[in-house]
Amino acid sequence: MRGIHVGTAAGIPIKLHWTFLIVLPLFAAAIGWDIGLLAEVVSELPGDDVDPGALEGEYQPWLLGLVAAVGLFVGVFLHELGHSLVALRYGYEIESITLWLLGGLANFTEMPRDWRHEFAISVMGPIVSVGVGVACYLGFLLTPAGADAPRFVLGYLAVLNVVLAGFNMLPAFPMDGGRVLRALLARSRSHAKATQQAAEVGKLFAFFLGLVGLFSANIILVILAFFIYIAASSEAQQTVMSAAFEGVTVADIMTERDRLDVVAPDVSLAALVDRMLEERHTGYPVVDNGDFVGMITLGDVQDVDPVEREAFTVGDVMAEDIVTTSPETEAMDALRTLQEHDIGRLPVVEDGELVGLVSRTDLMTAFNILRTRNVDRVAPDADDVTAGPGQEAGSPLERTGRR
Ligand SMILES: [Zn+2]
Repeated sequence: MRGIHVGTAAGIPIKLHWTFLIVLPLFAAAIGWDIGLLAEVVSELPGDDVDPGALEGEYQPWLLGLVAAVGLFVGVFLHELGHSLVALRYGYEIESITLWLLGGLANFTEMPRDWRHEFAISVMGPIVSVGVGVACYLGFLLTPAGADAPRFVLGYLAVLNVVLAGFNMLPAFPMDGGRVLRALLARSRSHAKATQQAAEVGKLFAFFLGLVGLFSANIILVILAFFIYIAASSEAQQTVMSAAFEGVTVADIMTERDRLDVVAPDVSLAALVDRMLEERHTGYPVVDNGDFVGMITLGDVQDVDPVEREAFTVGDVMAEDIVTTSPETEAMDALRTLQEHDIGRLPVVEDGELVGLVSRTDLMTAFNILRTRNVDRVAPDADDVTAGPGQEAGSPLERTGRR
């Protein structure tokens, strides 16, 4: 997730997503709007009451709302930092902590596979939130009874941080509680199976959360439900794919050079289209006297006016700046590269020479076959698996890349 870089904590870049910049004033306004009601809620806390009348001055509710909203996001940030510090201790790398529409997100370059690691990392966020809530409550108690504004903010943050901790512990994968559930399930099952089951529970929770959001007209809850549903499905699918592709390299599934249809740069586009139809390929590596020089796809041809396709050659329109892969690359990494660059095929290059081609279709077909083959095999132990999918990895669903 991209965002504005605003600082660094424990070596981790902190970012603000553009949705955060919208949601912060909205939160501030919502708190300011309901300040009388919220003051009554805060007054329920053991300790002296907060006087709603003192808070409802001319501009004070909005100002207090802003301070409370900023405090809330500081709490969210500390929550994410809690996850991150435990993860760093186990040797995981954290790309960034981003504050966005739905709170915070710590981006891991690699997801923990050891259930103990995942358990410890997941519970630390809510533990920090409870700690922040308790600290705010102590501040609330220690602040003199007459100081209604700071006491309101502290009381509000005390309640909200504890509510946040409780909410995050719902077993709605990929929220913290869902990750704890997966970690506990993974003690006696494969990582992939545990993920699938936790994701099912997560989707069920997302469904109910969405219903509650609809009936209470709470738009944030509805968005959160959508997010949980999509993230649960996506991560489950990624994990299943990683498990199926374990130990499989590009060399295992690529179309090798001697079986590969290639095209020369001096062929006209019109002739290329005829060949595409005949061979039903939509992309070719371009090879000039044995040297790999570029890639040409149906999309590149479509960019040229039909009447000019006789005059243009493959060499004129081919892409020369090509993302490539190597035969030893893990199949799952190749799939991720295809998704990141939104392309349909990767030339496989070894020592500067074209040795094959791997396409999305190859990978998806291989995945379906591997899954069928692996059905009755015992799934790998969690400790044997090295690289996991990034938290932010996109949907592994097959997309038809233009290139
Ligand atoms: Zn968390």
